[in-house]
Amino acid sequence: MDVTRPDILILGAGILGSSAAWQLAERGAGSIGVLDLDLAGTFSSSERNAGGCRATWWHPINAELSWRSLQFYEEIAAEIQFFQRGYLFLYSPRRWAVAREKKAQYDRLGIPVEYLAPDEIRARLPEFENLKGVAGATFSPKDGLLDPHLLKEYYRARAKALEVKFLDGFYFTGAELRGRRVEAVHALRRTSPPSEEVLEEIHTRHEVDRGGPWEREVFRPKAVINCTGAWFPVSSRHLGYASPVQPVRRQISLFESHAEDFSDRGMIVDSSGLYLHAEGAHSGRVLAGYSNRDERPSYSFRYDGEPFFDKKIWLRLYRRGGRRRFEAIRHLRGWAGLYAVSPDKSGILGRAGELENLYELGAATGRGVMQSYMLGKLTAELIATGRFQTFDAAPLSGGRFARGEFLLEALDI
Ligand SMILES: Cc1cc2nc3c(=O)[nH]c(=O)nc-3n(C[C@H](O)[C@H](O)[C@H](O)COP(=O)(O)OP(=O)(O)OC[C@H]3O[C@@H](n4cnc5c(N)ncnc54)[C@H](O)[C@@H]3O)c2cc1C
Repeated sequence: MDVTRPDILILGAGILGSSAAWQLAERGAGSIGVLDLDLAGTFSSSERNAGGCRATWWHPINAELSWRSLQFYEEIAAEIQFFQRGYLFLYSPRRWAVAREKKAQYDRLGIPVEYLAPDEIRARLPEFENLKGVAGATFSPKDGLLDPHLLKEYYRARAKALEVKFLDGFYFTGAELRGRRVEAVHALRRTSPPSEEVLEEIHTRHEVDRGGPWEREVFRPKAVINCTGAWFPVSSRHLGYASPVQPVRRQISLFESHAEDFSDRGMIVDSSGLYLHAEGAHSGRVLAGYSNRDERPSYSFRYDGEPFFDKKIWLRLYRRGGRRRFEAIRHLRGWAGLYAVSPDKSGILGRAGELENLYELGAATGRGVMQSYMLGKLTAELIATGRFQTFDAAPLSGGRFARGEFLLEALDI
C-alpha cells in the first residue's frame, strides 16, 4: 500500500486508535494507516493510567461498554495480565443511595455485584479500621486489573498481521476540506527521533519548532478517524470542527508498604476518591491515585511529588488505617497523565462535525482502557457497514452536546 493513500487514516495510535485499526482490518474495511508523533506513547494516556477495569458504572451505556469489553478480556486474560480480583468501591451516604438503585441495572446486564454493610467491609478490608463517612460498599468480583500496554500491543500485533501500517514520527498539522469531505491530511514527518524533552514540548505547546528536521507529507485517505485523545481540542480545530473535550491532568503515586499487603485484592476505591491497588504480587509496592476536583484543564505532565503524595494519598490512608498501619509507608515516585474529558464525562464515538468521511473516537476520561475493545468494535462496525451491529451506539456521537442529550456519568473518579 502507498502509505499516503490508505483507505482509512487513523490519527493517534493510543489504545483506542489501535483497537479501531485492528477491528476495521478484521472487517476488511480496506487499507489502513495509523499515524502518531510517538508510537511508544511516552505522553499518551494509554501509557500513564492505572490499568483498572470495571463494569460497575452508573450510566447504562458505560456499564454495557465496559461489561462487553471485560468479557472479551476474559478470553485473552493471560496475554494481557487481566486479574479479576474485583473492585471494592466504598460510598458516602449520598452516593450509597444511588449505588443501591443501580442494582437493577447490574442485574439486567448480568454483572455480579455484592452489596456490603460497614461490618462486611471491615471483614474484607481490615486495613481500613475507620470507616467514618462510609455508608456501604459494592464488591464486583468480575472487575479487576489489566496491563494496558499489553492490551494495546495485542491490538497492534493483530492489526499488523492484517497489513495495517503504524507510522511513527508523523505529526498531524492540518487538513484540506472540500464541501463536506476531508480531501487531504497534512502531517510533518520527523527524520530522526526527538528527545523526551522535545516530545513533551510538542505535546504541551503543540508547536514543532524543535525536534526536526521535518518533512512534509500529504495523505489522501477516503476516511479519517480522529483518535488523538486529550489532544481533541487541537486536532479538531485542524479538522474544521470544535470539540468540547478538555485535557485534565491526573496524578498517580507509587509507594512502598511492607506492613500492609494488598496483593490479593483488586482495586479499592475509597469514598474520599482515593483509589489504590498492589503493583505486582507481593512486591510491597502500591499504586494510588486521586483526581483533584479543582484541577483546571491544561496540557501539564508535572507530577507534584511529595506534597501530592502527603496531602492527597497518605493523609487519606492515615485517616482510614491510623498510625500503626500507614505511618511507615514510603513514597517512591509518581507521574501525571491526561484525562480527555467531555461535558458529560462519557466517551465520544461517531461522525465528527458535518463532514461525511470524518469520524471521532475518544474522550473516554478514566475509562479508555477498559472500554477500548467495544469502542473500537463499534467504530469499526459503523465505518465498515454504515451502522452499529452489536448495539445502537448512536447516542455516543459528539453531536449530542449541541442537542442537549447528555450521557452523564456520575461515578467517574
Ligand atoms: C492517571 C490516569 C489513570 C487512568 N486510569 C485508568 C484506568 O484505571 N482504567 C481505564 O480504563 N482508563 C484509565 N485512564 C484513562 C485511559 O488511560 C484513557 O482513556 C485512554 O488511554 C485513552 O486512549 P486514547 O487512545 O484515546 O488516547 P491516548 O492514549 O492519549 O493516545 C492519543 C495519541 O494521539 C497522539 N497524538 C495527539 N495529537 C497528535 C498529532 N497532532 N499528531 C500525531 N499524533 C498525535 C498522541 O501522541 C497519543 O499517542 C487513566 C488515565 C490517566 C491519565
